Amino acid sequence: MSSESVKDDCFAWAARDPSGVLSPYKFSRRALGKDDVSLKITHCGVCYADVIWSKNKHGDSRYPLVPGHEIAGIVKEVGSTVSNFKVGDHVGVGTYVNSCRECEYCNDRDEVSCEKGAIFTFNGIDADGSITRGGYSSHIIVHEAYCFRIPDGYPLASAAPLLCAGITVYNPMMRHKMNQPGKSLGVIGLGGLGHMAVKFGKAFGLKVTVLSTSISKKEEALCVLGADNFVITSDQRADEGLAQITRLHNRHSIWRSPI
Ligand SMILES: [Zn+2]
Ligand SMILES: [Zn+2]
Repeated sequence: MSSESVKDDCFAWAARDPSGVLSPYKFSRRALGKDDVSLKITHCGVCYADVIWSKNKHGDSRYPLVPGHEIAGIVKEVGSTVSNFKVGDHVGVGTYVNSCRECEYCNDRDEVSCEKGAIFTFNGIDADGSITRGGYSSHIIVHEAYCFRIPDGYPLASAAPLLCAGITVYNPMMRHKMNQPGKSLGVIGLGGLGHMAVKFGKAFGLKVTVLSTSISKKEEALCVLGADNFVITSDQRADEGLAQITRLHNRHSIWRSPI
């Protein structure tokens, strides 16, 4: 449980200005605390949030900015009181790395809704005043509450996108009981989240319809992802097609992909 490794340089890719161009960057992570997990990052998904903040689209980017909040990796060190993780475990870190851990939301393990505000994985100001830096880097240190176990044998490359895109789709589907076989799901837009919605939908046994402005997505939707129906929304006949699908199924829920 040596803390020597926390003094190693962290190698990263950082944006330096609103061009969003990433270039090599070295910095130090915080020292390992007693409740912390340090993980070697093996994979990090690419989210549109990375583009937004790398290019300062919201006007609040803090440079150098290390994006990435779909992090998968292997535990390399744990703090003295950490009991849920051990060296060698496969783990993930998502969109937030800190919160108050006292409010009703934190107590419900809904830390992202923390009353005092969750601290995001990159471009956030952490409790110690430091700027958080994300997963386009060699390792990260997080409190164990913001670290999630990835099952042994599950490919880390496939796990990474679940930490943002995946949970963003999975959570509302579960909340609205869109995991019951036979229900119908409409997915507007086959972007990163749309892909997830189709795959979860099929895994749950739903009838899945993809609605897209682009015919180029048809083969992927039907043949690769296994959707049941495909509707071109730019087509004047789209309303007709939708009405037909709605008639076919008693229950109809639409997932609108923001990407
Ligand atoms: Zn994201
Ligand atoms: Zn809280």
